Amino acid sequence: MNNIPEIVARQRAFFKSQASKSVSYRLSLLKTLRHEILSNEHAIYDALKHDFNKSKFETFISEFGLVLSELNLVIKKLNKWTKPKRVRSSLLTFPSREYIYKEPYGNVLIIAPWNYPFLLSIEPLIMAIAAGNTVVLKPSELTTHTSQLITHMIEKVFPSSLAASVEGGVDVATALLDQKWDYIFFTGSVPVGNIVAQAAAKHLTPVTLELGGKSPCIIDETVNLKLAARRISWGKFLNAGQTCIAPDYIIIKSNIKDQFVKLLKAEIHKRYGTNPKMSPDLPRIINKKHALRMADLLEGAEILFGGEVDIDLRYVAPTLVDSPDLNSKLMRDEIFGPILPILSYHTEKDLETIISNYSKPLAFYIFSNNKAFVERTLKTYSFGGGVVNDLLIHFGNHRLPFGGIGTSGMGAYHGKTGFDTFSHNKSISKRGNWADPGVRYAPYKGKLELLKKMFRYFS
Ligand code: NAD
Repeated sequence: MNNIPEIVARQRAFFKSQASKSVSYRLSLLKTLRHEILSNEHAIYDALKHDFNKSKFETFISEFGLVLSELNLVIKKLNKWTKPKRVRSSLLTFPSREYIYKEPYGNVLIIAPWNYPFLLSIEPLIMAIAAGNTVVLKPSELTTHTSQLITHMIEKVFPSSLAASVEGGVDVATALLDQKWDYIFFTGSVPVGNIVAQAAAKHLTPVTLELGGKSPCIIDETVNLKLAARRISWGKFLNAGQTCIAPDYIIIKSNIKDQFVKLLKAEIHKRYGTNPKMSPDLPRIINKKHALRMADLLEGAEILFGGEVDIDLRYVAPTLVDSPDLNSKLMRDEIFGPILPILSYHTEKDLETIISNYSKPLAFYIFSNNKAFVERTLKTYSFGGGVVNDLLIHFGNHRLPFGGIGTSGMGAYHGKTGFDTFSHNKSISKRGNWADPGVRYAPYKGKLELLKKMFRYFS
């Protein structure tokens, strides 16, 4: 099985040799990676098209473009980020200078999902390498074309003692998790996140878990409904709804529901035509198993729009479902497909009844121009991150840490936060020798009052 223990042993030896810590070496490899990604631009589009009919445009906006901008940022900032950062000293440690040194964890394992197979493999890899670690990446077994291309690119750019891609399914992931790692970065489902956390706990290995959940989208009567419908027709059906931060369900003020449904139907028509099956812009469901899962979710549902499922073509039409019961299959787990339940509310209490039925979600969306309502809602509910009056866009700003809370995950990344995720903060005090205040030394008699004052005023 890809000789996993051998790869890990080689990477361990390489890390021990200190070679991965050279910042100029990291930079030169990241620049080579950038060159390789740019030269493979069309191969990347083709791979994603083959894997699940993802259009060039969507691959650019949600994978290729995001990876490149993170890579450019890292290349620009790495010298700054890796420098020991001086912090203000405390009079309690006087005389001293204090610093935070960024230290790579060591040997990192990254396990990636299939839904954004290029982005969610390569972005953590970039950050882990930038921070000076070695990496074994396991891309998803469900997106074979993209995963093979990733392996090919990694083999071309990195020595395998620094970074390697190991392809395979559950058996390979399990064999990888049997190894001892210094950091594990996992993106995927909640049940597998649980397995990863347990494997990591055996060795007290720190983990980042980027998971999912049922992310709500609230709409009140203060918004421009047409604009809300337009934005929702984009953010829900991008990647055919197979997005961890896609809105899972809508909760709309009951008096505007019918009007909203009408507007959303019109927007979906505009995006994908009257027969979305023929649209070149609507990706397919990743495999038949998930297409069957969608068909099962729709059984007995009150369909307002769409509803067509073609298992052989792995096609599910953009679908709107009217007010499903909170105990129905559709409302139990994350949908992860182009099906959008539309629920309604009268009071904020109704909102709470629905939202608190679920664990803390990865994303949270509010369409409202009522500032007090927005602030109250943002502060009331616990969730990974969110957007007011649009969907998904918080993912696009590298200054916003991206991650979940509770069952939607732990830890975060993007931009500098990504570099920090893969770095240990080593706190260093450099003591001066030109003075040596005597208060800490025994005998302590008569020194306690002075010590108390120092703690009160100087910490
Ligand atoms: P998944 O959990 O089935 O698989 C993810 C990875 O784990 C794959 O590489 C897979 O091979 C591996 N894996 C599967 N079973 C395993 C096991 N028993 N032991 C060890 N490894 C195993 O998830 P998926 O279907 O690829 O992705 C969809 C899920 O990922 C959704 O729940 C979605 O919300 C979540 N997701 C989260 C984010 C995020 O950033 N938070 C991003 C994308 C997807």
